[in-house]
Amino acid sequence: MNDFETLKQEVLVCEKCPLSQTRNNVVFGNGNPNAEIMLIAEGPGYYEDKSGIVFQGKSGELLDKILTASGFSRDEHIFISNIVKCRPPDNRQPNDTEKAACLPYLYQQIELVNPKIIILLGATALKELIDPNARITQIRGQWIDWKDRLVMPTYHPSALLRNPTLKRPVWEDFKNVVAKYRELVNPEHYSAHC
Ligand code: SF4
Repeated sequence: MNDFETLKQEVLVCEKCPLSQTRNNVVFGNGNPNAEIMLIAEGPGYYEDKSGIVFQGKSGELLDKILTASGFSRDEHIFISNIVKCRPPDNRQPNDTEKAACLPYLYQQIELVNPKIIILLGATALKELIDPNARITQIRGQWIDWKDRLVMPTYHPSALLRNPTLKRPVWEDFKNVVAKYRELVNPEHYSAHC
């Protein structure tokens, strides 16, 4: 298996699927490559494609608020990546060919980061990694044992922007993650809000 930097250099020039033809930047993922928590979402959007950095724009701001309230910082506690590393045009969902081409990179990232906890943001990440028939509305908030890791599915921040009533369940899910992080990683983990 590649080391982290070798994998990154490979992905940054990848042309394995047609999304390479329309992207501006490959969005490899950001954060601490030794983090105990990994966040996984669907794919880059407009601002991520422009910058090459995960979770920019309003979704990124909202995610940062949630992480800060949980006592987590992007640089220290987490690594964030996506099912596909290049933006699908017009923010459509990635198709099966694109997901199949890109998923091996994500699996390598998971092995290399080796997180104890994985947070799945939204239905696409849940369906691709856990169960194609799973419904985020039914399964969010429940811990799943997956490949010796604990997985917490919750809503994507963009869903919260469309429907603010989802903020409360997502906050409950993150409080759950904080409790698990204290149990598995650091009993002294500080969060001002939970
Ligand atoms: S989406 Fe993934 S497989 Fe497709 S070109 Fe980008 S990095 Fe390669």
